Amino acid sequence: MTLRGSCLCGSIRYEVTGPLTGALNCHCSMCRKAHGAAFRSRARVAATDFRWTQGEDLIIWYESSPGNHRGFCRACGTALLSRFDFDRSAYGLPLGALDDDPGIKPQMHVFVASKAPWFEITDDLPQFDSFPPSGEPVADLRAGDGLESDAKA
Ligand SMILES: [Zn+2]
Ligand SMILES: [Zn+2]
Repeated sequence: MTLRGSCLCGSIRYEVTGPLTGALNCHCSMCRKAHGAAFRSRARVAATDFRWTQGEDLIIWYESSPGNHRGFCRACGTALLSRFDFDRSAYGLPLGALDDDPGIKPQMHVFVASKAPWFEITDDLPQFDSFPPSGEPVADLRAGDGLESDAKA
């Protein structure tokens, strides 16, 4: 299975050749601002399963928390990937830039305590005020998942 993704202007393209895991919607204020949206849908991808196929030099990395780098296109602003100094084995992948169907869907809402007041969650997925409790199916969440504490919000 190969999944393709790209930014809005098409300058940057990537391929994912392994499974995406831990898909969720993050409502923290950093994700909301980074995406200009009610929440960020993201999954985890192993670093070895991800590669840029075009335009890697056009990415700007913004360190939104110490060690947490959000990569976006310098031309169109599309959020493309998060990488982590504390776990280089995995990346956080925003699902919105995918061009193909990953075959998975977000399974929970996290940082719901930081949710935008103008957005109402209308599905039945589990909701967590901050991080999901450990033992959730996405046990890898805290290492290399792109979730940040909202403390500086
Ligand atoms: Zn672009
Ligand atoms: Zn977030």
